Amino acid sequence: LRPARTKRRPVVDAVAPETNAPKSESRAFEADVSRLLHLMVHSVYSDRDIFLRELVANGADACEKLRTLALQDDALLGDDTELGVTIACDPDAKTLTVADNGVGMSHDDLVEALGTIARSGTRAFLEQLGDNAASSNLIGQFGVGFYSAFMVARSVDVLTRKAGASEAWKWSSDGQGAYTIEPAPEGDAPARGTKVVLHLSEGSENYAQPHTVERIVREHGSAVPVPVDLVEKPG
Ligand code: ADP
Ligand code: MG
Repeated sequence: LRPARTKRRPVVDAVAPETNAPKSESRAFEADVSRLLHLMVHSVYSDRDIFLRELVANGADACEKLRTLALQDDALLGDDTELGVTIACDPDAKTLTVADNGVGMSHDDLVEALGTIARSGTRAFLEQLGDNAASSNLIGQFGVGFYSAFMVARSVDVLTRKAGASEAWKWSSDGQGAYTIEPAPEGDAPARGTKVVLHLSEGSENYAQPHTVERIVREHGSAVPVPVDLVEKPG
């Protein structure tokens, strides 16, 4: 039986369904990621600067991965052959952006890499930690990778396009148990590689100051195998 329809009048014409238009999807983090993020957000760990080392290292890793892949397929590099990391500070917007023109991530790469605990070091960290959240000095000892961004950010956007792919994706999270993935707005997405945008939390706005960022990169950045540039507004 269908409900009576006599009282319904269409106000607007039905819109033709968009073909192949992927929508924003929301996904829960793996339980261990949620646990780790909770720890990051409430961290009393004093050396929060380490998040930048982790993000720069990821950008450099992505460049190295692309360099290796390009040995087999140099079309992947195209005209954009100078691989490196660019950090952009925007004190007005209170954002810090770490971008690279490396290998980038597909939709499924994003789900795997930034929704689960892929790295063995982080697993080991969580095991060591047990139920003792007080031992957060372990954070520095193990290095907790990408998720350490949530020590200083109230939300993080990751805009990424995998080398050779036409589509780009935007991953976003406030670190509270879930994240979203949607097609990246074309103007925002890098031509290739990944842009990690930190919306800095209250008390962490200093990480949008170029002199602070420059100091940290000098202290931590010497071992990075690709150039790291600093610009004052996100490009
Ligand atoms: P690790 O670098 O030790 O693997 P991270 O937590 O730092 O751990 O990063 C998790 C994964 O996310 C990486 O292994 C990589 O697959 C992916 N990733 C993070 N940042 C980037 C980036 N800038 N470009 C491409 N992939 C990235
Ligand atoms: Mg890493």
